[in-house]
Amino acid sequence: MVLGVSGLTALAAIVGPLPLALGRPPSRSVIGWANALAGGLMIGVAYALLTEGLGGALIAGGLGALLGIFFVRTTHALVGTGELDVDGPDSAGPGGGYKAIVVDSLHAADEGVAIGVAMAVAVPLGVAMAATLAVHNVPEAMLLSTVLTRRGLSVPRAAGVAVAVNLNQVLLAVATFAVLGAVPAGLPWVAGFAVGALMYRSLVELLPESYHQAGETSIAMVTLLAMGIVVLLVGVTG
Ligand SMILES: [Zn+2]
Repeated sequence: MVLGVSGLTALAAIVGPLPLALGRPPSRSVIGWANALAGGLMIGVAYALLTEGLGGALIAGGLGALLGIFFVRTTHALVGTGELDVDGPDSAGPGGGYKAIVVDSLHAADEGVAIGVAMAVAVPLGVAMAATLAVHNVPEAMLLSTVLTRRGLSVPRAAGVAVAVNLNQVLLAVATFAVLGAVPAGLPWVAGFAVGALMYRSLVELLPESYHQAGETSIAMVTLLAMGIVVLLVGVTG
């Protein structure tokens, strides 16, 4: 169940490179909105985990969130980049494509944890989380494949990589679900971890660059709308 649902989530990324395959590379504004859409959906997922996953264990959740932020911060420091800026000199320089792949695989990891936690809380919540992250994988795959094709990779290859970086989502969703099945007391910790990592990632990786790519108002609107839709979805399933 968890494997199937999270597998479909990762596969959804295949839609992302479609504009490139059709010979229509996304404009700067579209890239900005894609970033904002992915970021807003991630903030919505974090909200869902906060309301459904902590079960009143606020201290464990808070400490878990700090661990999540620490995890993202440390991996950023190790990889040497915070944001995946398609327009930045970094993505055009040597190693830019490689960095983009590493950042995106790490990025997918804690989203997998989020799916696993949500599944452990309740299956409908887990399915809602997975559906949300599947939608969010589309703009993220579009961004990554744009970076990679600008670096000379063919579109099919870039699409393959964009799907492959999401395999972490599947692995970690299954692993998290299994671990929480054995150790239910870990739930608020792991939920907190996912919340911290998701919020930090949207604020540091996705949103800052999107403001340069499209207007501030439109970015704020897309982000809030995406977040609001997830909150509604959780209200309906919860
Ligand atoms: Zn994401």
